[in-house]
Amino acid sequence: MAHDEPQAAGPTKLVIRNIGLVLSGAMERPILDADTIVAENGKITAIGRAGDVNAEGATTIIDANGTTVAPGLIDSHVHPVAGDWTPRQNQIGWIDSFLHGGVTTMISAGEVHMPGRPRDVVGLKAMAIFAQRAFWTLRPGGVKVHAGAPVIENEMVEDDFRELAAAGVKLLGEVGLGGVKDGPTARKMVGWARKYGIQSTIHTGGPSIPGSGLIDKDVVLEADTDVVGHINGGHTALPDNQIRCICEGCKRGLELVHNGNERAALYTLRIAREMGDLSRVILGTDAPAGSGVQPLGILRMVSLLSSLGEVPAEIAFCFATGNTARMRALDCGIIEAGRAADFVIMDKAQHSAGKNILDSVQLGDLPGVGMTIIDGIVRTQRSRNTPPATKVPEIVGH
Ligand SMILES: [Zn+2]
Repeated sequence: MAHDEPQAAGPTKLVIRNIGLVLSGAMERPILDADTIVAENGKITAIGRAGDVNAEGATTIIDANGTTVAPGLIDSHVHPVAGDWTPRQNQIGWIDSFLHGGVTTMISAGEVHMPGRPRDVVGLKAMAIFAQRAFWTLRPGGVKVHAGAPVIENEMVEDDFRELAAAGVKLLGEVGLGGVKDGPTARKMVGWARKYGIQSTIHTGGPSIPGSGLIDKDVVLEADTDVVGHINGGHTALPDNQIRCICEGCKRGLELVHNGNERAALYTLRIAREMGDLSRVILGTDAPAGSGVQPLGILRMVSLLSSLGEVPAEIAFCFATGNTARMRALDCGIIEAGRAADFVIMDKAQHSAGKNILDSVQLGDLPGVGMTIIDGIVRTQRSRNTPPATKVPEIVGH
């Protein structure tokens, strides 16, 4: 698939019919009573039973063939650098590979793998603005990469945040990956970022690679970022009692990543459930990382948390869709009228022991992806990366 996917020319109407299961992405109602979804010009316009929605005038008709439609998955934590190339593992096409794992939106936690990354204030601001522009212009495979996430340095002043926001920067990279590693400075700058509408996240846990440092619970709680980035470490997790302190000591997002400590992820999940706070749980991969690129990382997290964390699969999918969309103020991630028509169509993998897709995920298997759709446009059909889906959807008309 081309790297720079064109938007549709002229009005479009997508009808997905014969859906076996609709996962909404919203925890309060994770399964919808519907077999048909209609999207016009890239936005969802109707969800319901075939007889109850207006499917007239479709420009694309998909027969879901009884498969499952969910919102496209959101990876809350990636480190992109330049288009679909990553210098971290010197790999090309990694974002397109994630699309084959059902991911349609990515959030940068900092373009920190840029060779020769500037650390002076003018340089880091320029790089953030450049990344924001470059990834908004180029969507590998159609994937929406929200990038341009500067990593804060001690020399920054309030006006730098005002200037970044005015230039279109909406995210901070992981606090702690730059020179600012102390609570008071982080808190001051995160406050400036928030004042100008810039969201923030923090590196939680031990150093990720040589050159990064420890961020413990005191710094995390004092910095008060919008998201507690990889609370299960990336890779090295904080001790359990510190993870508990963070969960109980703030109301911020609890991000669990694939490139982290899996036991600590399950521990965090348990605490969030005890607190009745599962809506705070969101998922990322932290890719590309030392552990590589994980195109199926989000699906693997869903399966891990559902099977070993004993969360119903339809709720685990919300961690990777609606929870993230709400926390990050994105227009995707939930199947409801008015939101972006970004979908992943899946079925249980061939020969899974599960009796249906949800059962298979609860047993620890990955689903097979049969199609991805972004802004109402089909981007991929049967995934080249997941185990093959038992049933796949088909484009039956234009
Ligand atoms: Zn990190």
